[in-house]
Amino acid sequence: MKWTRTLIQTLRETPADAEIESHKLLVRAGLVRKVAGGLYAYMPLGMRVLAKIQAIVREEMAAAGALEIVAPILQPAELWKTTGRWDAMGANMFRLRDRAEHEYALGPTAEEVFSFLAKGVVSSYRQLPLTIYQIQWKFRDETRPRFGLMRSKEFLMKDAYSFDVDADGADKSYWTMYHAYEKVFARCGLKAVPVQADGGDMGDSTTHEFHVLADAGEDGIAWCAKCGYAANLERAERATSVVSSAPCAALPEEVATPGARTIAEVSGFMGLGEDAFVKSLVYAVDGKCVMVCVPGDRDVNEVKLKRFLGAKELALADNSAVLAATGANAGFVGPVKPADAAMRIVADVSLKGAEGRVVGANKDGFHLRNVSLARDTAIAGADYADLTIVKAGDACPHCAAALEIKRGIEVGQVFKLGVKYSKAFNAVYKNDNLEEKLMIMGCYGIGVSRTLQAIIEQSHDKDGILWPDAVAPYRVVIELLDPGVAEVAKIAETLESALEARGVDTIVDDREERPGVKFKDADLIGFPVRVVVGAKGLAAGGVEIKRRCEDKSKTRVVAPGDAVAAVLECLGLGGEA
Ligand code: ATP
Ligand code: MG
Repeated sequence: MKWTRTLIQTLRETPADAEIESHKLLVRAGLVRKVAGGLYAYMPLGMRVLAKIQAIVREEMAAAGALEIVAPILQPAELWKTTGRWDAMGANMFRLRDRAEHEYALGPTAEEVFSFLAKGVVSSYRQLPLTIYQIQWKFRDETRPRFGLMRSKEFLMKDAYSFDVDADGADKSYWTMYHAYEKVFARCGLKAVPVQADGGDMGDSTTHEFHVLADAGEDGIAWCAKCGYAANLERAERATSVVSSAPCAALPEEVATPGARTIAEVSGFMGLGEDAFVKSLVYAVDGKCVMVCVPGDRDVNEVKLKRFLGAKELALADNSAVLAATGANAGFVGPVKPADAAMRIVADVSLKGAEGRVVGANKDGFHLRNVSLARDTAIAGADYADLTIVKAGDACPHCAAALEIKRGIEVGQVFKLGVKYSKAFNAVYKNDNLEEKLMIMGCYGIGVSRTLQAIIEQSHDKDGILWPDAVAPYRVVIELLDPGVAEVAKIAETLESALEARGVDTIVDDREERPGVKFKDADLIGFPVRVVVGAKGLAAGGVEIKRRCEDKSKTRVVAPGDAVAAVLECLGLGGEA
């Protein structure tokens, strides 16, 4: 391909809205162009990368036995109402009506559509197991679309759905996809680590997310370097030793703590460490107040809390509700005799048996000290649970080594769904006794467009992108330095055709530009191999070949006739391509 015949527009300026490196490079290299917030057009170079990632996904899906179909983006509301997700999806789902006032969603995902399809096509156990997938545009009205393709309103997702006769079969399908995902990301040149994750309201609780570890990641990951335990902070656990403080003989006593509301303020005021305190927060949970107590130096994990309470809606209660429930304003509330004696109080498991703590007194401007949770509060034994967010240095739940906290970009997720969707749709098969049984499902997503950008985030330097060979827009760029000199242009052209004939996609930079400009663009876009063909170089002995990731000292000069072999070797294709 000739540079002047394609459409490449690199930018010198960094786009104003780009906060992270991969977003800047994506736009500067001209791979995509922003159309509006969270909406991008893929330009020819970006399109090539997207197509290569899709090709890898398709090959690995086929190897895993999954069948490709394509389902409509426009999904009738009835399907979503069948599972109750028409309401549950809330504002995240784009909704519209046709001229007859029928309601639709622009698919944010497709469990409903695929369950509906499976119900229609599967009748006998002989057709199972079945895994079907699509690579289709998805739409989500994200609260904060940002970071380019990382969190956009419209994005390309590969979504697969498995249907099995029983739990063993579903387990097998799950791990088949899990391993296929490992292969997909490895082939994209991406280091993506599987981490245990929270299943949200998807069904069964078994789920792994695949994360690209990067500072720009939006998710926190608890990581054990010793045993390999890795979990999203939403789900991560720690080994807690039950507190065995000596029984506190003294009875609770009020301490005036005027104006000291936060744990940091009271602990400063009283001269005690934050872990001497119990942090108490009142949540509005499906219309009712629930008090949540955690150690003073820890934060509430709302995902765990929601799951523990089996709540649909959960948020911090507003001021008036806090006052009514406890008798005090936030900052002075605690688990000892709140105004509403019937309010449920739950506490982090690490507080079980805690003695001699300081809690809010349910009276503005006061705290209570010498509090024994067992003696002085009405917290039931069953209301102690793991409710906090893991911190760096906490003990790994498997091997007790110190956990680290890393940042991750979620590029894919695999879920066991159980019968949540098949039940809603009555998606059944007949077993060999002709009895109807629900299919056991799994679902598996890869953010194809997010993966494209995650590759850049993981693989770049100060000059630009370092594409892994497998997904580079072109694997080779030929820098034609003297496009006006016929014999030089001829050599470049011969080399291009020879490489293309060996299956190596090649672009020839035939622009009338200074070499510096051309090299800068090539580095910015990040073609893995650069071949320089110029009159001066040829007179001095040949063409220059250099890998993008290596410095100038590694540049090789070869005779034009040896260039194809040298490029192939550079690409690790030594003679076989
Ligand atoms: P996130 O937690 O980042 O919002 P999610 O867990 O809601 O993502 P899934 O429903 O698991 O997303 O979708 C499958 C994959 O689609 C994700 O692993 C991610 O790679 C990708 N994805 C999800 N939302 C977006 C988005 N707004 N923009 C780009 N890719 C996305
Ligand atoms: Mg996910």
